[in-house]
Amino acid sequence: MNALAATSRNFRQAARILGLDSKLEKSLLIPFREIKVECTIPKDDGTLASYVGFRVQHDNARGPMKGGIRYHPEVDPDEVNALAQLMTWKTAVVDIPYGGAKGGIGCNPGELSKSELERLTRVFTQKIHDLIGIHTDVPAPDMGTNAQTMAWILDEYSKFHGHSPAVVTGKPIDLGGSLGREAATGRGVVYATKALLAEHGKSISGSTFIIQGFGNVGSWAAKILHEEGGKVIAIGDISGAIKNPNGIDIPALMKHKSEGGSVKDFKGADPLDKDELLVHECDVLIPSALGGVLNRENAADVKAKYIVEAANHPTDPEADEILSKKGVLILPDIYANAGGVTVSYFEWVQNIQGFMWDEDKVNMELQKYMTRSFSNLKTMCKTHDCNLRMGAFTLGVNRVARATLLRGWEA
Ligand code: GLU
Repeated sequence: MNALAATSRNFRQAARILGLDSKLEKSLLIPFREIKVECTIPKDDGTLASYVGFRVQHDNARGPMKGGIRYHPEVDPDEVNALAQLMTWKTAVVDIPYGGAKGGIGCNPGELSKSELERLTRVFTQKIHDLIGIHTDVPAPDMGTNAQTMAWILDEYSKFHGHSPAVVTGKPIDLGGSLGREAATGRGVVYATKALLAEHGKSISGSTFIIQGFGNVGSWAAKILHEEGGKVIAIGDISGAIKNPNGIDIPALMKHKSEGGSVKDFKGADPLDKDELLVHECDVLIPSALGGVLNRENAADVKAKYIVEAANHPTDPEADEILSKKGVLILPDIYANAGGVTVSYFEWVQNIQGFMWDEDKVNMELQKYMTRSFSNLKTMCKTHDCNLRMGAFTLGVNRVARATLLRGWEA
């Protein structure tokens, strides 16, 4: 099932549980605005290359639309649409005053030089600058983009609208970025995991973890779990997978990667088959890469007791059903990976206040938001007798529905 069908299905199920009026349900599902633009740039060798850029602005009932911009060969309108919708529910789950959006350019950033990426980012910004803004739509990094990408967007946007640091989040610290933003999604994943384990009388230091994906989210989650005494027994990325039953030395792996090495050729662990990674024995499985990795092909073989969705929509609905029948508890993406957008909100607040918080304050506030949201999500599970995914969906959808009804439709 594609990402949009899966996300919309979860939304409809939540709408039914909440007893939403069918007209309201329909209006919440249709995106506010979908933007598709041509981005042509001269490559370094002088030839032209054309790419298609998207920005889907899903909903703004609770505030400015918010979400990342992804550079990836598989970016397509349906996928961006699904991810924008997920952002609407995600920002509502953690109760930050935003709606949802997502953008992307169908390209392989690994094959573009830094100056080609800069040109592409600037052309994309030129095409959408009138439709984003501090109080309308605030982009951030996602897969294939980073703080440097945000710096280029900020610079290009500011040529048209004057210096506006709050128009993007996930910026470099020197341009008004927040301390703790880079680690925030991974750190939020750890706070979420902690809350889930505590509920079952368990702790991070007494548990084993498998992490799929060692990019920004996976590597920070691994690092913080390791610091808290958790044993990360297997890790995989596109290069391959590795295992060490005594726990992988994460700081050493991070150093190895920063020196140009890949996960696969790290010496402090044994090789593991890539497909085996997701079905290897552990307490907590943390998919932190692409969507759809848990599907009907492998769900029945998963041995983890808990899955924490650090990636967006890593579990397709068929896998969801198989896993829940097996009694595996899944902490859903719209809660588990909301730490990134939560600290994006803190960054935006700091920019508007013109005052920089220290890192301890950022992390403390993040923990507060993640812990409070977990307890709100659990309340929804109890009220509606539903699983964690529906607990999160009903929590988010209900908040957006309330805001929409309060604002009304009168023309
Ligand atoms: N791209 C991240 C996400 O999927 C962060 C979005 C943001 O900070 O606006 O949640």
